[in-house]
Amino acid sequence: MDSWNESCQACGSAGGPLTKFSLGKDFFGRPYDRLSPLSDQNPNWYCATCSMHKYLQRDFRDIRAEFDKLRACQGSELLKGDEFRRASLRLHEMMTILNAPQQRSPFLNGHDVTLLIERLNTLTMPA
Ligand SMILES: [Zn+2]
Repeated sequence: MDSWNESCQACGSAGGPLTKFSLGKDFFGRPYDRLSPLSDQNPNWYCATCSMHKYLQRDFRDIRAEFDKLRACQGSELLKGDEFRRASLRLHEMMTILNAPQQRSPFLNGHDVTLLIERLNTLTMPA
């Protein structure tokens, strides 16, 4: 059986339902390259809260990678106005979640998110 019946592999909580986290597509809808060092090699079992945070971390990582490409004048998903707006909304959503009480993410630092929002704000919105 492909299951994990111990505790959440991030926060260690036991007793709640656990979800097997696996990266399918990235924030921009592209399938993950399984061999990429950025993708997680092993499936992990997380409680509901931690798996939600794990998705936030994934999206943050994807958005930051595209932002870096944009800054380096390489092609970037963020050059598309829709994707830029979606990414910006997603970052603000992360901020709201991370600022909520009892929502300390085991994976993501609120300061990093703030910083990326500020850096995105310095860009001109693509047409
Ligand atoms: Zn957990």
